[in-house]
Amino acid sequence: MIRQYELVERVKAYDPTADEGILNRAYVFSLKAHGAQTRASGDPYFSHPLEVAGILTTLKLDCDTIVTALLHDTVEDTLASLDEIENHFGAPVARLVDGVTKLSQLELQSDQTRHAENFRKFVLAMSQDIRVLLVKLADRLHNMRTLSFIENQTKRRRIANETMDIYVPLSERIGLQTIKEELEDLAFAEINEDARNSVNARLEFLRQESGDIVTRILNALSDMLAGHRLRASVEGREKRLYSIWRKMEIKNIAFEQLSDIVAFRIIVEDVADCYRALGLVHGAYPMVPGKFKDYISTPKPNDYRSLHTSVMGPERQRIEIQIRTREMHEEAELGVAAHWAFKQADAGSDGKQYRWLRELLDILDNAAGPEEFLEHTKLEMFRDQVFCFTPHGDLINLPRGATPVDFAYAVHSDIGDTCVGAKINGGMVPLRTRLSNGDQVEIVRSTVPSPSATWESFLVTGKARASVRRFVRSKQRKEYEALGRAIAEKIFREAGEPFAEAVVEQALPRLKLKTEVELYAALGQGNLSGKDFGDACFPARRLTGVASRALSLVRGRSGIAKAGDAAIPIRGLESGVAVHLADCCSPLPGDRIVGIVAIGMGVTVHTIDCETLVSFSDTPERWLDLSWDREEADNSVHVGRLSLVVANETGSLGELAMSIAKSKGNINNLKITNRSAEFFDFLVDVEVQDARHLTDVIATLRAVPCVSSVERARG
Ligand code: MN
Repeated sequence: MIRQYELVERVKAYDPTADEGILNRAYVFSLKAHGAQTRASGDPYFSHPLEVAGILTTLKLDCDTIVTALLHDTVEDTLASLDEIENHFGAPVARLVDGVTKLSQLELQSDQTRHAENFRKFVLAMSQDIRVLLVKLADRLHNMRTLSFIENQTKRRRIANETMDIYVPLSERIGLQTIKEELEDLAFAEINEDARNSVNARLEFLRQESGDIVTRILNALSDMLAGHRLRASVEGREKRLYSIWRKMEIKNIAFEQLSDIVAFRIIVEDVADCYRALGLVHGAYPMVPGKFKDYISTPKPNDYRSLHTSVMGPERQRIEIQIRTREMHEEAELGVAAHWAFKQADAGSDGKQYRWLRELLDILDNAAGPEEFLEHTKLEMFRDQVFCFTPHGDLINLPRGATPVDFAYAVHSDIGDTCVGAKINGGMVPLRTRLSNGDQVEIVRSTVPSPSATWESFLVTGKARASVRRFVRSKQRKEYEALGRAIAEKIFREAGEPFAEAVVEQALPRLKLKTEVELYAALGQGNLSGKDFGDACFPARRLTGVASRALSLVRGRSGIAKAGDAAIPIRGLESGVAVHLADCCSPLPGDRIVGIVAIGMGVTVHTIDCETLVSFSDTPERWLDLSWDREEADNSVHVGRLSLVVANETGSLGELAMSIAKSKGNINNLKITNRSAEFFDFLVDVEVQDARHLTDVIATLRAVPCVSSVERARG
């Protein structure tokens, strides 16, 4: 255990002006407050806050932060109150302790469903003052170091998972590389002990095999640089077990070379020397192509700066080298803490403070209240990403602007392919909804893959876009081919000829097409007209009649179709095609729909789940892929049909009508289909704007006590 005077000395060593008195008072206060409490390890409880303070001295943090570390568990776990702390140690320390206490309380709620909400509060709490997070991370680090003393395995596992999901990304984001790596490694040991042991065994073998090669390489590098009069210090650092494991996982490779386990680092005086050292290294050893990265001219989002390269080193071994200045090195090791170190307590003006942190603090200063702050920042620090959770509490990290469909594909492409709906924090939302930090996302799935082409307009991740595009293309192509083939057969029939592949093949050169498949696709897509096809097959005769007319139906890709006088805004049809909405399913804008071609009668539009469609499953050539034209659909009114079961009691009809009116639906028709002593069965036609609106109406009706069930009428 660190002694009282040792702690004070450590702080004094980097901050001679530190207030010795307050450090001593905090030490004694915490020691007394925790009294006889003990840790799972059997150590006195006080050893914990003391170790946490010790960790923070290695980050050279200011006096208030060290004091906060000593006091961080007193409000939560002892009789001490926040008022007392404010009286003894001042308002700034009290505020920091309060922040840490709040974070700890969030941690205690282990229920996975509250996880997401917690994370939101968590980030809000810590963004009040980044030092709160620094204390919390040190707290977590010490708890992870002593994790093995906890006997309950479930609890250990939960803490380790939480560390991996939340604390590791956070410490990475604020650039605390060393703490991040240690946390990761400790969590790894709990979560996947077998993997860690096997990596360790392999590492041990490689260490023995390579002997003191690391020292020899270090010396060779130092000598080479010194020979060119460059002042530099060279280090060789063994990589962490977890980072080796991750590399094996991601790249799906075994590790067997020195470059897989040791990273060399050259530390120089200034930026110019970085590039000079790089030149010397590349001059002395052949570089490995594609491995050079210049994070000095383009820093990472967490402001990490360094040059990275790989060369075939002095012993013809591939080695990785990082080159940076002393200052960059300190920042890489300490991250944001480097700017909270005592010497830079007033560093806001020196331009070196982390950009995102400065912005965050600016907004904090200017925001009227916490809501506005959250609204403005949407967590500025995570500007480029959102953290969301699966219903099991697994963290999914996505780029900003991502939707539930992106989320689904990020979890697994099968889940993306079968995604039909989504719940955010328990409520159904449109698939185009943008996810926010901390959202818990549940994907509603169908049994068959059914990605929609319209998703592409809102997807953000490359993986999701590519999957959807691939699916839609191959599906469309197959549909067009089948349709084209059916059209071709029909044209043969019209011409009074038996269908013959050979004839079609002969027509190919005349149509400047290469394969039959290509031809069918062109025919199905409408790029090739039925008449041209007929002329090419039977150059001697002229084709007339129904077929060529009917085929114009499927030509053209967009436009507004007409049904009677009212425009039905549907994409995927040529202008002028007669369209009507099927009575069986009454499709509404927003529903997923298909058109069924009735030759000579135009197109009937059904919802994709309409039962009537079964009778068309043998004639795929008659199916058209349609979607609603959103812009055109606004402000128009459509009729949705509901089937209801309502209790047969006084006033129930009135309640029903009231409820529909409340959700701005208009009853258009109402029919009792069955009537018993207890219940009425109704069919109700309601005027609504679109499918979502109808869903609202349904939801409102479900809340009415006399309504026993409500459903959209199908088939
Ligand atoms: Mn603690």
